[in-house]
Amino acid sequence: MTRYDAIILGAGGAGMMCAGVAGQRGRRVLLVDHAPEPGKKILISGGGRCNFTNIHAAPDRYLSANSHFAVSALRRYTPQDFLDLVNAHGIAWHEKTLGQLFCDGSARQIVEMLRHACPDNVEWALGQAITDVSHADGMFRVTFGDRTATAPYLVIATGGPSIPKMGATGFAYDLARKFGMKVVEPRPALVPLTLGGDDVLFRTLSGVATEVVASTGKARFREAALFTHKGLSGPAILQVSSYWRHGQPVQIDFLPDCDETWLVEVKRARPRQSLRSALAARLPERLAETLADRLEIGGELGALKDQQLCVAARSLSFWPFSPNGTEGYAKAEVTAGGISTDGLSSQTMESRRLAGLYAIGEAVDVTGWLGGYNFQWAWASGWAAAQAF
Ligand SMILES: Cc1cc2nc3c(=O)[nH]c(=O)nc-3n(C[C@H](O)[C@H](O)[C@H](O)COP(=O)(O)OP(=O)(O)OC[C@H]3O[C@@H](n4cnc5c(N)ncnc54)[C@H](O)[C@@H]3O)c2cc1C
Repeated sequence: MTRYDAIILGAGGAGMMCAGVAGQRGRRVLLVDHAPEPGKKILISGGGRCNFTNIHAAPDRYLSANSHFAVSALRRYTPQDFLDLVNAHGIAWHEKTLGQLFCDGSARQIVEMLRHACPDNVEWALGQAITDVSHADGMFRVTFGDRTATAPYLVIATGGPSIPKMGATGFAYDLARKFGMKVVEPRPALVPLTLGGDDVLFRTLSGVATEVVASTGKARFREAALFTHKGLSGPAILQVSSYWRHGQPVQIDFLPDCDETWLVEVKRARPRQSLRSALAARLPERLAETLADRLEIGGELGALKDQQLCVAARSLSFWPFSPNGTEGYAKAEVTAGGISTDGLSSQTMESRRLAGLYAIGEAVDVTGWLGGYNFQWAWASGWAAAQAF
């Protein structure tokens, strides 16, 4: 049985950041993961270029039962801090859009950077199934493969169950419950929505994309939406999916730059034009056709009343879809919910119930928007925990 200062379960972004910083602070750390290589989600992220942070990262861009929980960690480890690390390793990067920073080259550079940040006093145990975790007399004991290790500090960094085929599990929740922590009901987030019923017609538009404002409740996102053979996807939809609950509608503004009189103006300028061709001037052809059919407005605009055209314009700006579900954990970029922040210190990520136990990264009930926010949380929470032991 080997004794360490800390054992970190999960060698994803949060676990590696925590191990590197704790290691640099002189701690003897064991990092255990059942995957044969670390940071698998980093490798596939951002289309292989890893959207490693967002310069606009701020607590209001995260979902959590406690909206203040992320404040401290995000303030103490900022996007600039991570960028300094990226620059120090000579990794070229660019801002794509909306503050999203990506590697110019490959996401593997981020994994290599985090690996190299771990000094020799960080020991790696990869490809190891964890068979038991227990706590007695102030020490945690972890059994994996044919080994057992002990430490006074244990960090849960095994993420959430999104993308199970990559080895993602709900292990963090089982462990948290075992040690008396609460778990906020997990659910797939940043996930495509599925359509049925009256909306099923829109599935025939699979492959069509357009810029929209998608909203549900108070959440509103202006980005691209994409029709799929199952329903709706694209950044605007993924963003609202994190806020969406079963039974709620999702509204789409197909023409966010047009006011309710735009069709009347088109009628005045080109009275012989049809609604379908007026729409096709602003939207992809197939979408224009489907929307015009749905509105049941044929013929020339000149033959229609202004009032009727204003009603149509309003419908196009507030088109209600009633998703019947999501594509689930198989397609969800992240898991919302998770280990309840009620039981954790926002300064250190330590359990309030069991001294020495920490939870970081996606395992915790803090979920970022699309666009580098989730990695920034992984870095910041991992860094915060590593300061504490
Ligand atoms: C396709 C995709 C693209 C994404 N792109 C981005 C992006 O560009 N920007 C962004 O900010 N976020 C992105 N995300 C989200 C981001 O990847 C996660 O939020 C982030 O990786 C969470 O880090 P983590 O360390 O907490 O968990 P993870 O990265 O999930 O790491 C958890 C680790 O624990 C290990 N593990 C799990 N269960 C067990 C177990 N039972 N025993 C032992 N080990 C276990 C796993 O093998 C894994 O190595 C993306 C996610 C996906 C799926």
